[in-house]
Amino acid sequence: MTTASTTAAASATTGTRTPGFTTTAVHAGQEPDPLTGAVIPPIYQTSTFAQDEINVLRAGHEYSRGSNPTRSGFEQQLAALEGGRRGFAFASGIAAEDALLRAVLRPGDHIVLGADGYGGTNRLITKVLAPWEIGSTPVDITDLDAVAAAVRPGSTRVLWLETPSNPLLGIADVAAWAQFAHDAGALLVVDNTFASPYLQTPLALGADAVVHSTTKYIGGHSDVLGGAVVVGDAAWRDAPLTDAVGFQQFAAGAVAGPQDSYLAARGLKTLSLRMERHQASAQTIAEWLLERPEVAHVLYPGLPGHPGHELAAAQMRGFGGMVSFRLAGGEAAARTVAESTELYSLSVSLGGVESLVCYPSEMTHASVKGTPLAVPADLVRLSVGIEDVEDQLADLERALAAATA
Ligand SMILES: *Cc1c(COP(=O)(O)O)cnc(C)c1O
Repeated sequence: MTTASTTAAASATTGTRTPGFTTTAVHAGQEPDPLTGAVIPPIYQTSTFAQDEINVLRAGHEYSRGSNPTRSGFEQQLAALEGGRRGFAFASGIAAEDALLRAVLRPGDHIVLGADGYGGTNRLITKVLAPWEIGSTPVDITDLDAVAAAVRPGSTRVLWLETPSNPLLGIADVAAWAQFAHDAGALLVVDNTFASPYLQTPLALGADAVVHSTTKYIGGHSDVLGGAVVVGDAAWRDAPLTDAVGFQQFAAGAVAGPQDSYLAARGLKTLSLRMERHQASAQTIAEWLLERPEVAHVLYPGLPGHPGHELAAAQMRGFGGMVSFRLAGGEAAARTVAESTELYSLSVSLGGVESLVCYPSEMTHASVKGTPLAVPADLVRLSVGIEDVEDQLADLERALAAATA
């Protein structure tokens, strides 16, 4: 397998100063093209690479399933921002999760799975991996006693955590989860899709691997599907975890293509700017919703009344752009609000510049309806976009009025 230069060292030089987040986002893995000087590295839309002699490769690339310069550049950029040793880009977030889990697990192994998480992750574990004898136990991510009790020493190999969680925006203590994992000889994986590396770097809090749906904040424009795994220094079965994940990426092959890698890399350059706007507007909207009589409960970690507010303030650098709320008028009101917005598009997914509204119980979380993982029927989730917040508030006001009419 070829190993192109995808190590995480930030390549931007700023003298003796360590480059900041946005400098790294713009420059790591994104050097001008050495051949032409093109400031933006070309999209290497090629499947294979000419060899000068048998197995003599010009820049380490042999075949684009193994490595491709556009993908490698994005992997290096993301790994630098997560503070990881290596990044691996995949065709979707789920493909990234699948590759990581198959790199780590063997039949008979067990996963402790944060309950309030992406429905597709639960489906992957309970429907795709379970027939290969992978067991799992869902736990309330905020209940550390429950986490400790769910760990089965000797068979639990992975603790899987999403924080902030989806769609209830619970906050879990990443360092405490890492301690439980390591005490049991297991790995902690954090799905960092909601926070993005701008607001949270789980590897620095003790996690062993981070996964992303780059479809969301990293791509940032709702125009590309992708996923990534970023791995730190962890060893697994006596070898670096990076080797096991890299082998899965190459040998099972669900890689990100060059065009998609380019779009994800372009999005990632402006992550900090977008995220600042997303979260400033999310805070305004959450505070506004608190005052509305139609709203029974607002779930946003930036509100001082949120049970995870202080923990989020300590382990994150901001509270993010996702806001959920429950309607006083129950399920009917929630459905009406979700169907009545105009600026907010009724859609699954999140993290793009445009605002989206979702009714999780029947949309993102339809696959867990009727199970202990089901989400409340009176819940509406917002992905707060970067449009003028006054326009967003006017849209939400109209939709809330429709629900009481
Ligand atoms: C969307 C999402 C995924 C899955 O990613 P895809 O790119 O849709 O495959 C995983 N985790 C979270 C938190 C997500 O929001």
